[in-house]
Amino acid sequence: MNILERYHAMEYGPAPEARNEADAWFAARDFGKALFIGGDWKAASGGKTFDTSEPSSGKLLAKVSDANAADIDAAVSAAAKALPKWSASTGYQRAKALYAIGRAMQRHQRLFAVLETIDNGKPIRESRDIDVPLAIRHFIHHAGWAQALDRDFPGHKGVGVVGQIIPWNFPLLMLAWKIAPALAAGCTVVLKPAEFTPLTAILFAEICERAGVPKGVVNIVQGGPEAGAAIVNHPGIQKIAFTGSSEVGKIIRKATAGSGKKLSLELGGKSAFIVFEDADLDSAVEGLVDGIWFNQGQVCCAGSRLLVQEGIADALIAKVKVRMSRLRVGSPLDKNTDIGPLVDLTQLDRVKGLIAEGARQGAVCWQPDATLPSSGYYHLPTLATGVSPANILAQEEVFGPVLATMTFRNTEEAIELANNTRYGLAASVWSENVNLALHVAPQLKAGVVWINGTNMFDAACGFGGYRESGFGREGGREGMFEYLAAKLPLGPVIKPATSSAQPVEQAGGVAIDRTAKLFIGGKQVRPDGNYSIAVATAKGKLAGEVGLGSRKDIRDAVSAARACKSWPEATAYNRSQVLYYLAENLSGRASEFAARLTELTGANAKAARDEVELSIERLFLYAGLADKFEGRVHQPPARAVTLALHEPVGVVGIVAPDNQPLLGFVSLVAPALAMGNTVIAVPSERYPLLATDLYQVIEYSDVPAGAINIVTGRSAELAGVLAKHDDVDGLWLFTDAETCAKAEADSIGNLKRVWSGNGRSLDWASEEAAGDALLRRAIEVKNVWVPYGD
Ligand code: NAD
Repeated sequence: MNILERYHAMEYGPAPEARNEADAWFAARDFGKALFIGGDWKAASGGKTFDTSEPSSGKLLAKVSDANAADIDAAVSAAAKALPKWSASTGYQRAKALYAIGRAMQRHQRLFAVLETIDNGKPIRESRDIDVPLAIRHFIHHAGWAQALDRDFPGHKGVGVVGQIIPWNFPLLMLAWKIAPALAAGCTVVLKPAEFTPLTAILFAEICERAGVPKGVVNIVQGGPEAGAAIVNHPGIQKIAFTGSSEVGKIIRKATAGSGKKLSLELGGKSAFIVFEDADLDSAVEGLVDGIWFNQGQVCCAGSRLLVQEGIADALIAKVKVRMSRLRVGSPLDKNTDIGPLVDLTQLDRVKGLIAEGARQGAVCWQPDATLPSSGYYHLPTLATGVSPANILAQEEVFGPVLATMTFRNTEEAIELANNTRYGLAASVWSENVNLALHVAPQLKAGVVWINGTNMFDAACGFGGYRESGFGREGGREGMFEYLAAKLPLGPVIKPATSSAQPVEQAGGVAIDRTAKLFIGGKQVRPDGNYSIAVATAKGKLAGEVGLGSRKDIRDAVSAARACKSWPEATAYNRSQVLYYLAENLSGRASEFAARLTELTGANAKAARDEVELSIERLFLYAGLADKFEGRVHQPPARAVTLALHEPVGVVGIVAPDNQPLLGFVSLVAPALAMGNTVIAVPSERYPLLATDLYQVIEYSDVPAGAINIVTGRSAELAGVLAKHDDVDGLWLFTDAETCAKAEADSIGNLKRVWSGNGRSLDWASEEAAGDALLRRAIEVKNVWVPYGD
């Protein structure tokens, strides 16, 4: 045997991580009192426990207190009691607490890593080198945000008591992503870990005790879906932050509809890993190992769909198979292990079931020739080729070590395939041509894009999804907003519109009859149903008639908005010029609009003139901000820059308010347009003529067809159609409370981003109802990671 042969024949010896510290911790703990409420350790009031077991052996680790609704109630009370003092504490005081937590975690870093590996099954290399250091970094990073609140978030304060629910795949890291920003913002928390992985959260609560976090600021309750639901539905909670499956995310969206609770959802994914033919294939293979086999593929942003350019597909697949054959599957506590067990038998069965179904649907599934340990929930890394885009392995989140492969011919096809999913969490793009990669990244419907890399995370860089991967961001500046609220200038309570048209007296006069139609795809069109509704003047006379828009008209408007590519693709400078032009043309007809306001609302001449002037000013404001409300560049502690790009939400429905009907309409539509969204606006039901009078202003202002669509009619009905339409990405509602609540509940089809006044309008004349507060609603932040170096 020559040296090379010897080298290849060499085997790894066992390199087990010691677990004696962890075993001592187990021995010393009473898991029957595992609820950390108001600084005390409590048993579940119902006396129930649940089992947590070791995935590598199936052996029972502990019987852990299982909280019920009464326990959740106690935890929320404790958090509410601690809130006034904590939220009134200085940023410096909160920063010291966060820093103390981070440092204490650092001192017990190895125990955290070993416990996480024992409880979850993830290889110790990962928990030791990734999960735990990232969690610590999160606390230390957020210590800084606590002190920077006044500087960076003027006018904002913590939302209050926060309910947080996390999954089992990164138990400690998800806890850190939740608790650190909440504490920095001055919120108090009730957090529920997943029932498969309660342990590191218990150790974390011990750390909070030792770090001197005031009692009740952090409450940790163990339990399953019942405890989770009790958190979601608790009236004493002002915000829900959830990470988990899209299925449960939708349940939570529906349950919180109309409650006014702030909500962020970090959900599942089916992320694309795109390899272009000029990629460095060896690097791409290493990226794939990390992308799909990290944590056994139980990663929300796992690169589970390999899209490879045709010409290099065979070469890449051959390299992937060789690499897969070298992945070491075994004890997660062994430092050489690449792949540990899945978290639980149910998860293992689910993965097996999805692979069998994928094969039945035509995929060819390949696994390396390796033997699995005799006990535990192990699964071999699996490569599926011949996967059609509709195959279950290409569409469903497997959450296991399974890679589905497809090929593409050119860039357009790669983008189309990548976006052919209901999810939108992450994507990786591999090409040695950074121009190509940066051309592709903005076109991917995903909250995070890694160029020539994968699974890069940092506390300073936001993380979160588009589409059914949820909404909201965790980490960095955007993540802080999720725990903050600005005092909004509330306007009147909005009463439901009376659905039958008020009989209005015919006004005398000889003016030529003008019928306001709908405005769809750049044209004035008759409503599909050919019905109209009467609009009354302030004096009860007939001011005119407008079209009664229907489901079909909304559908046409959504199609027109979706088809309009030139607006979202226009440069910010172009958009700004169009908005200036709108302002200019509205200004040319200011007196006509003022007269209309007086006629319809009864506003006196000065108030009407002021509203028109302010509407013009708002158009100017957003024209000016279109190229200034920009993203940022982060410099994470890695050899990479992260571009936090502001992208439009997409197609946005706007149900405009009755109060200040011109200003309210403009105040909502203009920021949406400024950021590149296309809009379907439903004007005030009472005063729609102010919007229909805008048709000509729009027509003269170079607004591309489909960028603004206006459908008049019954607000409640049209809001419902918009809420259920799966091609509408965002919905803003300033209408009555019942309509807002229903729209939130109905929005779950595609998890659209809903912003509602919950039945209150805003005072559109106030400064707080303009500027960044609105622009933030009009964008998604996409973080594009660009590594550098030789
Ligand atoms: P899951 O949705 O089943 O459970 C998540 C949490 O919700 C658990 O704590 C569970 O007890 C709780 N829960 C279950 N039903 C509930 C209900 N009706 N009301 C309230 N709470 C309820 O998800 P999982 O299986 O634990 O985790 C896997 C999922 O998490 C995957 O889909 C994965 O993609 C997702 N995930 C997303 C991210 C992200 O940042 N986007 C990160 C990690 C995991």
